[in-house]
Amino acid sequence: MRYFLILTTLLLGSYQSLAAQKQLISNDTVGLSYVHAGKLVDVEAGTVLFNQMITIRGDRIVDVGPWTLTNKSANVIDWSDYTVMPGMIDGHTHLLGDIQSEDVLAPLNLSPEEDVALGVINAEKTLKAGFTSVIDVGSYRAFTDITLRDAINSGQILGPRMWGAGAYITRTGGGGEVVGLDMGVKIPLDFRRGVADTEEEVRSRIRDLIEGGADFIKMIVTGAVLTVGTEPGEVEMNEDLIRAGVEEAAKYGKYVTAHAHGAEGIKMAIRAGVRSIQHGSLMDDEGLALMKKKGTWLVADIYNGDYIKDVGTAKGWPAEILRKNNETTETQRAVFTKAVKLGVNVAYGTDSGVYPHGDNARQMTYMVRYGLTPMQAIQSATIWGARSMSLEADVGSIAVGKFADIIAVKGDVLQDISILEHVDAVMKDGKIIQ
Ligand SMILES: [Zn+2]
Repeated sequence: MRYFLILTTLLLGSYQSLAAQKQLISNDTVGLSYVHAGKLVDVEAGTVLFNQMITIRGDRIVDVGPWTLTNKSANVIDWSDYTVMPGMIDGHTHLLGDIQSEDVLAPLNLSPEEDVALGVINAEKTLKAGFTSVIDVGSYRAFTDITLRDAINSGQILGPRMWGAGAYITRTGGGGEVVGLDMGVKIPLDFRRGVADTEEEVRSRIRDLIEGGADFIKMIVTGAVLTVGTEPGEVEMNEDLIRAGVEEAAKYGKYVTAHAHGAEGIKMAIRAGVRSIQHGSLMDDEGLALMKKKGTWLVADIYNGDYIKDVGTAKGWPAEILRKNNETTETQRAVFTKAVKLGVNVAYGTDSGVYPHGDNARQMTYMVRYGLTPMQAIQSATIWGARSMSLEADVGSIAVGKFADIIAVKGDVLQDISILEHVDAVMKDGKIIQ
């Protein structure tokens, strides 16, 4: 008897709450909009669903399921002829300032205002290319990225959701410095806010960057292709310095991502606990095994080596840069293929700013050519990218509770991934951008 009573109470209780829920929904359809998706790429399951309905309130997704809408007066975005997928995430951009040129001192010739003004243009191009989120991994002049991020977030300008590093943590004369000036010429302090040579300096610079609004920390662990006088294979930050950086950032709930090409630097960074390795060009098998074991993310920019080779050669970029690009392009692709085979976490990142902004999806075909399936390539630029920085509560898939950052393309992206180079429609925050 008592069992029966409990059951009745439970049933009654659930009936009432359902009724209450229905009441709530029917009274509250004002402000809802509905995307009618012909095909929907479910990046969490790795499948494609047909004839789906995405319900949006404000800037968030509130429901996803089969198309059932009968209300003729509802606000419907008709993408029934399109493949619909989450907005893409580029895990390695440089939106601020001008794009790379033959003049390695060019960043010094722009004012902060010009840096940000160019950033505004670059951000809009990136968003309209279907990249609704970016991890912007560094600007030479500190905090210009934070200014741009805040302007985007306040709705003043069009751009992708952006997470910024504030500046590079780099050693004196290292891969994150502007170098090439005559002896004795001083570089303005704004370009050196992340320069650190000791553990104390690393910790103090990191505190300054986080205080100034950085979302994460970028440490330049080895030399760089594009910084004259540094070598990609050479270690610039030892393991103690990296570990100090990881610890200090963690105090504020932030991750460190490491710029690292060389095999030794990569292993030091992984052992020190960085969240991700950017580039990874000269990684050895030991490094790959270590990444797999620790779950470290690899963000390998496997497209832009071709761009640097073609455009850099044609425009007369310094011979040293072209040589280093040659030495790292194919090795990086081989590392990427091995990483995929081993099941290392990989996320999409392109180094935009080295090549023109808006071409971010050109790397998609490379992701497929060097080992991912088309679905995995899409996952690398959506849900995996989100997970690589623990952003999956807000972005990376079309799911309840996340931002309504959604793109649409004609045609079958799983047959031809290059279709993503020309996105037909972009929605961010529930608003159609184009
Ligand atoms: Zn970069």
